[in-house]
Amino acid sequence: MAWFKRQKKSIENPVPPDERSVRTEGLWTKCENCRAIVWKKDLVANLHVCPKCQHHFSLGARDRMEMLFDGHWEEFDAELASTDPLKFVGLKVYADQLRASQRKLSMKDAILTGEGLINGRPAICCAMEFRFIGGSMGAVVGEKVTRAIERSIARRILLVIVSASSGARMMEGTISLMQLAKVSAALGRLDEVKLPFISVLTNPTTGGVTASFAMLGDLNIAEPGALIGFAGPRVIEQTIRQKLPEGFQRSEFLLEHGFLDAVVHRKELKNYIHNAFELFLS
Ligand SMILES: [Zn+2]
Repeated sequence: MAWFKRQKKSIENPVPPDERSVRTEGLWTKCENCRAIVWKKDLVANLHVCPKCQHHFSLGARDRMEMLFDGHWEEFDAELASTDPLKFVGLKVYADQLRASQRKLSMKDAILTGEGLINGRPAICCAMEFRFIGGSMGAVVGEKVTRAIERSIARRILLVIVSASSGARMMEGTISLMQLAKVSAALGRLDEVKLPFISVLTNPTTGGVTASFAMLGDLNIAEPGALIGFAGPRVIEQTIRQKLPEGFQRSEFLLEHGFLDAVVHRKELKNYIHNAFELFLS
C-alpha cells in the first residue's frame, strides 16, 4: 500500500489535449488590404475601418442605419418579402436561397429602409445588405426604395440611399429589371418637388443599381476604395481583351474622371451628409 493517498478525486471530464490552449479565434481578424492583424473590437469601434491603413470593410445594413441615424429609427416595410414569381431554379433553388438569407440575416430582403434623425434633422435612409444574395435588386428592393422615396415626398423630408449591390436579381428576371425604371421614375417625382437625394456608393456597387438610383443622386458620394461600375473589371477585360488602368472603377479613379462628386471617409460620412443637406436647403 502506498504511503500517501490522493485526498480529492481527480477532475472529471478533463479538457482534451487539443483543446487545452486559450481560444482566441473569432477575436482577431486580418485586414484584407494591409494584412495587419486587427482586434475585432477595435475594428467595430472604428466603424469597420482598419485602424492601420484605413481600408473600409463592408458594413451590414443594420450597422449602416445605426451609424447614420442619431439613435432610434423607425423601420418601414420590414415584412415585405419576395414571392419568387418565376419559381426560379438555377444552380440553387431561389426559394431556398431566400429562406437561408432571411434566417441568417434576420431580414426579409436585401435592403432596410427607415426614418430617423441625422444630426437632428429628419431623414429617410435606405441601406442595402450585400450579404443578402449579393445585395441584388429584385421586386422587394425596388418596391421598398420606391416607397421610401414616396414617403420622402409625402413628408417633405430628405433622402439618403446607401448602395452595396451586385445589380439586378437574375432570379426574378424581367421583374427585377423593371425596378430600374420604377425607382428612376419615383426619383423623377422627388426632383419635381425639389427635395434633395444623396446617393452613397459603397464597395461594391455594380450592375442595375449603378444603372439606376445609385448614380441619380443630387450628390453621388462614395466611400474610399469602393468598386463602382456597371460590369465588373474582369468582364470588361475579357470583352475588350485589354488590361485596364490601375485603380479602374475604384472611387478615387471615378472621382478624378467626373463620375462622382466626392469620396468621403466613413467617419466623416454622417457630418458630410448633414452639411450637404444644410447647403441644399439654404
Ligand atoms: Zn489595413
